[in-house]
Amino acid sequence: MECKQVRKKLKDYATDEIGDKGIIQEMEDHIGSCQVCMRELLLWQDVTEKQRALNRMSGGLSDRMDKRMRETNRNIHLPPIMRRVEAMRMFSMSPVVKIIVQVLLLAAALLLMYAATRNGINIFAVILFGIGFMTVIAMMFRKKK
Ligand SMILES: [Zn+2]
Repeated sequence: MECKQVRKKLKDYATDEIGDKGIIQEMEDHIGSCQVCMRELLLWQDVTEKQRALNRMSGGLSDRMDKRMRETNRNIHLPPIMRRVEAMRMFSMSPVVKIIVQVLLLAAALLLMYAATRNGINIFAVILFGIGFMTVIAMMFRKKK
């Protein structure tokens, strides 16, 4: 097979739409020895994968994404201060901030435990305190999701 023929069928190959095993074999023989077609196949596979992922998402989710896009666009018309507030609100909900808060809380808990043991408090009380703290953190993050 030549590049021209192979490339015509690459999309079908990526989406598994070629039933003829002979053609598949011929294509694979060519792709195995042709960098250009190989690269194009990888591209098609990437596109196909993304399309599948999009299809997997429920209609509700894409609706919500559309809504968020529209809201973001509408925010451009807000006065600058309101936009800044909105940006801060979005920032405070980002996963990175959640992780930072979690790490800070854990560090605080460890510090408290360390201070408690140094002051000679019963170790079991410290462990109970620690477990309580972890539960509170776990609950907090479950609620936020
Ligand atoms: Zn080729």
